[in-house]
Amino acid sequence: MPADPLDDRPATMPPLEVAARVTKVRTAMVGAGLDALVVSDLVNLRWLTGFVGTAGTAVVRADELVVVVDGRYAEQAAQQLADHGVPARVAEGRTRARLRELGLDALGGASRVGLEADALTWAEARSWCDDLAASAAETVPVTGLVGGLRAVKDGGEIARVAEACRIAGAALEAVVPLLGAEITEAEFAAELEYAMRRRGSQGPSFDTIVAAGPNAALPHHRPGDRRIVEGDLVIVDFGATVDGYRSDMTRTVVVGEPTAEQRLWLDLVEAANAAGVAAVRPGVRGAEVDAAARAVIDGAGLGELFVHGTGHGVGLRIHEAPWALSTSSDVLVAGNLITVEPGVYRFPLGGVRVEDLLLVCDDGCRPLTTTPKDLPCPPSPRTT
Ligand code: ZN
Ligand code: ZN
Repeated sequence: MPADPLDDRPATMPPLEVAARVTKVRTAMVGAGLDALVVSDLVNLRWLTGFVGTAGTAVVRADELVVVVDGRYAEQAAQQLADHGVPARVAEGRTRARLRELGLDALGGASRVGLEADALTWAEARSWCDDLAASAAETVPVTGLVGGLRAVKDGGEIARVAEACRIAGAALEAVVPLLGAEITEAEFAAELEYAMRRRGSQGPSFDTIVAAGPNAALPHHRPGDRRIVEGDLVIVDFGATVDGYRSDMTRTVVVGEPTAEQRLWLDLVEAANAAGVAAVRPGVRGAEVDAAARAVIDGAGLGELFVHGTGHGVGLRIHEAPWALSTSSDVLVAGNLITVEPGVYRFPLGGVRVEDLLLVCDDGCRPLTTTPKDLPCPPSPRTT
């Protein structure tokens, strides 16, 4: 009897190095000429402090870190900060006005205050700017300051993403025979998500994509009630979540024997994936990874069918820096996680996408996705 994959779950995870992160943020602030930073992005807030909530703000100063939360979260935030040994003060406010007052108190005396441009609504930004102007502080829109630091993962983060990858791969291999059993896309997505939950995933890392037959021509098709039948190409793009850290992989399965054209597409995209993976190493620009994968598909005369970028970073968000796009100037460094996911799509044949998640290492990269590219799926029509 094969070993139960549930037995492979690691007993413990290496700790997340949360307490060390505020020092990195302070160094980046000095580089950006800031003496204060308001962290409004909840994912950045979680990364910086360990606090997980639906609302909250951190104020980073050279000598203090303040986490401002409402009444729902004061105790929880204090506990989560303490769990991670984060040297921060929690300030609790029960009204919107009081929360703003606490934030402004923490910013007292600052002269150049960074605001996270990607995380604030126009109204929120206006309000911060007006309030800070009253105290003669200059406000500076900041993009990617914390996000850039988040792109380089510590050992605890890598272990969690790797575990999410393992769970996702084991779940897919467990349920892939169902694709041959004439179930619907939505039913297969549910089975896959349940199989990941059983193995320890906190939930899908994004809305699971199951796209079969002509639907596979849509790169981000939402699984529906179409039955999966023999001869379909089926794109399955999905991931698991462990302690908030996500995985992301795509496999394309053919139900039954592939036609010559399907085989050509599968081999081509697999070769493009391999070329992209071979380009991933420190010092390489994301655009070069994209070019390496794209060249293979261009070389086959199908470049027009590769309608999206090649890859993206993954962590607490499913899409984050660094980016493997033709326009990306991101330079890969050891500790980055990045996907390589070329694809081709044409209605009504469908589509093929193959996606692996890689850890950038000093000497190249290591795949965190280890699921075979070719998952056989013989048809086994329903008997009921
Ligand atoms: Zn994906
Ligand atoms: Zn992806």
